[in-house]
Amino acid sequence: MELLRPSSSEEATSALGNGSRALAGGTELVPLMRDGLVRADTLVYIRDVVPSGIDGTRIGAGTTLAELEVDPQIPQALREACTQAASPQLRSMGTIGGNLLQATRCWYWRLGFDCWLHGGEKCFARDGAHREHAMVGNEQCASAHPSDVAAALLALGATVRTTRREFALAELYRLPTDDDRNVTTLAPDELILELDVPTPDASIYLKAMDRRKWSFPIVGVAAARFDSETRIALAGVAPIPWTLDSPAALEDATPLPGTAYKVDIARTLVRRALEGVAAPSR
Ligand SMILES: Cc1cc2nc3c(=O)[nH]c(=O)nc-3n(C[C@H](O)[C@H](O)[C@H](O)COP(=O)(O)OP(=O)(O)OC[C@H]3O[C@@H](n4cnc5c(N)ncnc54)[C@H](O)[C@@H]3O)c2cc1C
Ligand code: SF4
Repeated sequence: MELLRPSSSEEATSALGNGSRALAGGTELVPLMRDGLVRADTLVYIRDVVPSGIDGTRIGAGTTLAELEVDPQIPQALREACTQAASPQLRSMGTIGGNLLQATRCWYWRLGFDCWLHGGEKCFARDGAHREHAMVGNEQCASAHPSDVAAALLALGATVRTTRREFALAELYRLPTDDDRNVTTLAPDELILELDVPTPDASIYLKAMDRRKWSFPIVGVAAARFDSETRIALAGVAPIPWTLDSPAALEDATPLPGTAYKVDIARTLVRRALEGVAAPSR
């Protein structure tokens, strides 16, 4: 295997694709390679060429979660999502760009089962163990997207700048289909460079998890209020980070038998989050 250290983002993107992968903090990519779920002949180390750090509303994709959780410029929902993610060691290495692109934690997928998302015929979780799986958007694949950070950024209305384009974060994700089982729209040779995160009047991130620390979201709820408009987004409930149009939309959830409890948790956390960001009464 080869490790490249490009000196510009152009050099990095031209080295990507064709069996090579971008390496940032490596907290996701290295375990996937160790487990044989990702194969790469070449790793392209991008920490020297992707911006990092915080400048007002702009966040470099190479900024670590540890840097974000303590910076007062960062809206509360994003700080709370970072603080409650993973462990201090992982947050010190893991970047926000890599966090947005992490793969599902579905145990069938992680164990290399030939399931639908891996290109096979069947979703094993549907009839098997699926307590941590999806409650919406789960027609084909019932995995639950694990990023707390993505839910916070969705509620905050973040935009993404890549080496090719600029777009709303929601457009980074897509539900997988029979024809295309990817859950992101990022091209293999496209790098996330920067995020722009508007400053809300109030925001919050609430997370239900199995342990108080170092645990992926069972359900994560982010809410952000801009003047009289409040946006809500959920983690851990669908194969992609999920925008909730209104609390009532939870009544349209399609849980599996083992994930029905998540709908109850989501209802409660959404109510608490909305209370948390409500404008003070005059
Ligand atoms: C045990 C464990 C627990 C965790 N718990 C949580 C949790 O509770 N909540 C949560 O939100 N997250 C959690 N995480 C995820 C963690 O936050 C991510 O692993 C980390 O942020 C990934 O960042 P990285 O820089 O290490 O990415 P890498 O491992 O370097 O890369 C991950 C992927 O993103 C791609 N990539 C990275 N940067 C870019 C870029 N700028 N442009 C294009 N592609 C890029 C890589 O090619 C790779 O495919 C957990 C991870 C572990 C291992
Ligand atoms: S939930 Fe998705 S990743 Fe998990 S077994 Fe089913 S198809 Fe595969």
